[in-house]
Order: sequence, then C-alpha cells, then structure tokens
Amino acid sequence: MEKVRLQKFMAEAGVASRRKSEELIAKGHVKVNGKTVTEMGIKVDNRDKIEVDGMPLEEEKKRYILMYKPRGVISAVKDDKGRKVVTDLLEEDVDERIYPIGRLDYDTSGLLLLTNDGEFANHLMHPRYHVEKAYIAKVEGFLSTEEIKKLENGIKLKGYTTSKAKVKVMSKDKKKNSTIVRIVIHEGHNHQVKNMFDAVGHKVEKLSRESYDFLTLNGLVSGQYRDLTRQEVAELK
Ligand code: URA
Repeated sequence: MEKVRLQKFMAEAGVASRRKSEELIAKGHVKVNGKTVTEMGIKVDNRDKIEVDGMPLEEEKKRYILMYKPRGVISAVKDDKGRKVVTDLLEEDVDERIYPIGRLDYDTSGLLLLTNDGEFANHLMHPRYHVEKAYIAKVEGFLSTEEIKKLENGIKLKGYTTSKAKVKVMSKDKKKNSTIVRIVIHEGHNHQVKNMFDAVGHKVEKLSRESYDFLTLNGLVSGQYRDLTRQEVAELK
C-alpha cells in the first residue's frame, strides 16, 4: 500500500474529516508508532500504529480477492489517463483499500489477485517464491518444435533469462494463420509471455491467464470476483 498523509489516512479510516483530522494532529491528540505527531507532512500506511487520544485506529479487515480481469482495464488503483482500473470493478461489498498483486497488461485478461495485505503481496511477488502461472496465448503463425524447445528451456530476454517453462500447442488455425498455446511460467516480468513469443518470432495476438498456482477462474465470468477462502490464503502463504 502506498503511504498517504496522516490526515488523509485518518479521514479514510473514518476518524473525522480531513480538516478535523488536521486539527486533532495539530493539537497533539495523535500518536504514530508511540510518538505524538503535530506536523502535517508525515506519511503513513497500514503498518503504522496510529492512536487518537490513546485509542488505536482499527485495523482494516484483510481482504484477498480473486478477479477475472477483463481486457481493456488497467491493473492499478488509479490511472493518469483516466482509463478504467481493476478497482473500478469492485462493488460496495469491498470498501477496503485493496490493490493488485503484480500486473496483467491492459489487453490481457484472466486471473488477478488483489489484497490490502502488504506482507502477503510481497511474499507472492518475491522472485524466490516461484508461483506457477498458466497462460493461454493466441500467437501469429505456427510454432516449430525447435521454437517450442527454446521457449521451454529458457530464453534470453532484456536483463534476464527465463527459467524452464511448459509449452503445449492446443490448436492451430490454418485459415487465420495462428496457434493457441498454453504456456506455464514461474516468473512475472513485465510483458514476459509476449516477449518470450516475440523472441521466437511469433507475435501474441491475445493473452489470458488461466491459473495462478492452484487457483483457477472456475465459476467466474469476465469482470467478476470472489474472496479467497481462508484455506486458499493459508496455502498461498
Ligand atoms: N505476460 C505478458 O506478456 N503480459 C501479461 O499481462 C502477463 C504476462
């Protein structure tokens, strides 16, 4: 979670309006991590312990959401260009400040996790924690056995080499000159799948993430979401 100004954080936590929160701060009613704060500049997030007149602000309930992200939506909580973002798809049942764990491209659909649990998000995004992610890609042209081997064994891209991947051709469309491929990777670099196919000369025309570790999109249609169960969260931790 991004740090925000203390008065904004207090207002969003329902303590008082932003103006009133500023007054409370200025008058010495507010402590951050045990220390009274009277200036306005300080920025905080969920990990900071904030007290107003000795009463701790209630911690936001932790939420873990699995979303079927549609194409044409940004994996972020706000967009400078005013495009639709994934949190715009949430209804009133989610009023916690959740954000996406990693990213799917604007034109990629599929499984996206969102949470307000920073530790959980960091854990899943850490390169050491190699979560298996499966994608279905529609690529231009037809893949040779050699190209498939290259994709499977690791490809040198800008700044890194991909680790072993699983690649399976699902179908070929001779008329459209395209192939549907299922590819399972372990890392999550920006545009990784597109860059991998580009590297073997096949442009990705359409991309969707169908699974993330043991999680799938079963039961959801594009744009829908559900809470993870306690057990699912525990298994991912
Ligand atoms: N790889 C990509 O190229 N794009 C995505 O959105 C996800 C993985």
